[in-house]
Amino acid sequence: MSEQKKGSSRFAGKVAVVTGAAGGIGRATCERLASEGAHIVAVDLRSQDLEPVVAGVRGLGGEALAVTADVSIATEVARYVDDGVRHFGGIDLLVNNAGIEGVVKPLEDYPEDVFDRVLAVNVRGVFLGLKYAHPAMKARGGGSIVNLASVAGITGNGLISAYVASKHAVVGLTRAAASTYPAAGIRVNAVLPAPVDTRMMRALEEGFLPGQPAALKQMMASQIPLGRYAEPAEVAGVIAFLLSDETRYVNGSLYTVDGGMTTF
Ligand code: NAD
Repeated sequence: MSEQKKGSSRFAGKVAVVTGAAGGIGRATCERLASEGAHIVAVDLRSQDLEPVVAGVRGLGGEALAVTADVSIATEVARYVDDGVRHFGGIDLLVNNAGIEGVVKPLEDYPEDVFDRVLAVNVRGVFLGLKYAHPAMKARGGGSIVNLASVAGITGNGLISAYVASKHAVVGLTRAAASTYPAAGIRVNAVLPAPVDTRMMRALEEGFLPGQPAALKQMMASQIPLGRYAEPAEVAGVIAFLLSDETRYVNGSLYTVDGGMTTF
């Protein structure tokens, strides 16, 4: 909390849309941005889980609007942008964070419907966010976007092929948008976390080693030079950095937040 409450107001007067806001990284990002002055448009499929997020933002003295939407559906993405503009007067920042892990299965056995859903949420969802936020952010004179990729966006794992493919695609979308969005004053970057202590890792631990999630966690952590998973707030801090003017010359970057996991 002391880190968040340094008295900085890097986002005073800014409006930030965070998708997947009810999840681990999403909620931590909402709270981090709000603690530095941003108004928050909190988007998630799970409307009931947005309530504590909104309460948390208000508890930090911020304002938040909860929007229930599926990021894979164009009309719902257009609606979360419109709701944000109508409620707060515009959008300056976007965090394309909503994502799903799919299942843990060898590629040759991977269910096609799960593959399609993972690509729909993780890739189409980011694509639609980039597409529909552009006019609103351009109208404000520009802004900054962070897409949640993963170390799975630059490495392979045949047991989570849909997730790996989707995060490689998020890297591609980040680079594609970063090459043209600056014409509208918008920077686009990606963060690539290694395991973060959230629901998603609980599901993956169970998938990789059924019935022994704690053992899997220990094994995963031992492969990370820092020896542990990231906390959601540690990822939120890097997201906030990339959204802020401190990184005004950073565009199209892939920012690993992985404790050194991809150094070998
Ligand atoms: P999480 O499961 O805690 O949160 C994800 C949120 O996205 C949930 O609240 C969920 O309801 C929401 N969501 C899912 N599908 C949606 C849809 N179609 N429309 C709107 N909302 C939807 O997971 P998390 O760990 O906080 O992950 C956030 C992002 O970070 C994801 O993109 C994930 O791939 C990425 N990431 C996570 C890790 C990790 O280890 N946890 C590592 C690297 C990258």
